[in-house]
Amino acid sequence: MYPSRVRDFIPVMCPYCGSVSELDVEETGWSRQSYVQDCPVCCQPWQVELTRDPDGDWEAVIKTGDE
Ligand SMILES: [Zn+2]
Repeated sequence: MYPSRVRDFIPVMCPYCGSVSELDVEETGWSRQSYVQDCPVCCQPWQVELTRDPDGDWEAVIKTGDE
């Protein structure tokens, strides 16, 4: 068994400017998280949805706020 990681980094692409950044995921024990975060490049608001599969891998979906 792998030790549980405290933090993870997920590569994501900004839906506004196309820049690739890394999401900093804090391990909280939740299997699903959603929040709003500004793009570090163009400062547009991301609607971030994080889901975690049974293997413990995070998957990130970035949506624009007006979708
Ligand atoms: Zn951007």
